[in-house]
Amino acid sequence: MTKIDIGEELEYIEKVNKINIGKNLKYNILTMGCQLNENDSEKICGMVEKMGYTKTDDISLADLVIYNTCCVRENAEEKLFGKLGEVKKLKEAKGTIIAIGGCMMQEKHIVEKIKKSYKYDVIFGTHTLHKFPKDLYNAIMENKKITDILDIDGEIIEGLPIKRDDNIRASVTIMNGCNNFCTYCIVPYVRGRERSRNPEDILAEIESLSKSGYKEITLLGQNVNSYMRVEREKGLTESKIDSFAKLLRAVNEIEGIEKIRFTSPHPKDFTDDVIDAIRDLDKVSKLVHLPLQSGSTDILKAMNRVYTKEQYLNLVQKMQDKIPGVKFSTDIIVGFPGETEEDFEDTLEVVRKVKFEQIFMFIYSRRIGTPADKMKNQVPEEIKHKRFDRLKKLYEEIIAENNKEYIGTVQNILVEGYSKTNSEFLTARTDTNKVVIFKGNRELIGKFIQVKIVSEHMWYLKGEII
Ligand code: SF4
Repeated sequence: MTKIDIGEELEYIEKVNKINIGKNLKYNILTMGCQLNENDSEKICGMVEKMGYTKTDDISLADLVIYNTCCVRENAEEKLFGKLGEVKKLKEAKGTIIAIGGCMMQEKHIVEKIKKSYKYDVIFGTHTLHKFPKDLYNAIMENKKITDILDIDGEIIEGLPIKRDDNIRASVTIMNGCNNFCTYCIVPYVRGRERSRNPEDILAEIESLSKSGYKEITLLGQNVNSYMRVEREKGLTESKIDSFAKLLRAVNEIEGIEKIRFTSPHPKDFTDDVIDAIRDLDKVSKLVHLPLQSGSTDILKAMNRVYTKEQYLNLVQKMQDKIPGVKFSTDIIVGFPGETEEDFEDTLEVVRKVKFEQIFMFIYSRRIGTPADKMKNQVPEEIKHKRFDRLKKLYEEIIAENNKEYIGTVQNILVEGYSKTNSEFLTARTDTNKVVIFKGNRELIGKFIQVKIVSEHMWYLKGEII
């Protein structure tokens, strides 16, 4: 992996800050997409705040508006173009600077459309996030539009400032890109090939988070459990921590960190050493995210997922045998091209068997540039929606069933804050990521406490402190 020196780019933070001194400028940011994008936004916020802007949720007050885009779902495009239409008036009224970054900017047809039809000042991509201060500086000083997109692979950026929203739980990106090329997915084209951060940099970041009082860490990547695989195969690492299992074990050693989660893994990379690490390590959550995508072997083949229905179920069984109390969450795509009623029934069968704690359900949407977009056998929208509703109904039945098992149990949970929907209650999540609400005082926030579950509701559990 190539770690690039961003010293020169970071000097522009200071240059923009000098221009902005005393102006009381504000910025507004909208993040679309996954946790990796949210983590990128934390880095953008870190840079922007050092450049003299303070955050506002009221876009009408903003002097700088940033859209950090995602291109995994079709409706994200409509959302972005809608937002760019709205922000035009603000630009005309007060000269607000508009910056657009993220995955969608790696798609040529989107950038062309923005350039042709919308107002903007800076466009930056996934490989040029660290250059945003320089691009912003040039846009301000030269009063011109900047487009800074690169199609590169294999680079790792370290040392960007970061402004985290939460002060108890933090996400830490451990790798970028993906080599799997699932046929429906645009990620390998917009985030590039798989590359892992050095374990020393990751551990230093987590140690520093621990010193700042963070208790829970989520390790992020498009394919976390193949961490360091490429570097190992190419002989590019000399570190003893050269696999995901070893990284988990090293993070588990960090004092002060009490809960470790990770997302998103690929079923094919759940090697025995990873399963053993989940079993052995007390801080690692026993909720394993195991993306299914489809329960049909034929559809899995068309998706290039490289496992069959039986292999997936065998993996579930193996983890259940090895890891006491393991539970699963998953992702499912409904209506992939060629999906028949029989294929969909296979998906429902796997859902019934595994009894997932959480399912992230998606209706298949075509992404330009992916092999699945060119497949002739697209499923009609009406059928996709009907199948989605059937899956949702089954999911809700399973949730209701699963929730009953929590009644009377005592859960060790990290108190996150007051519930957003009911400020009388504090909120936390079980090891299996179920939201728990309970009465308690402010001093408990940021602490692990024991709560007995007394009632269950579809999307949350109610508890009492014991
Ligand atoms: S594993 Fe598949 S779905 Fe996940 S990011 Fe890579 S290509 Fe996309």
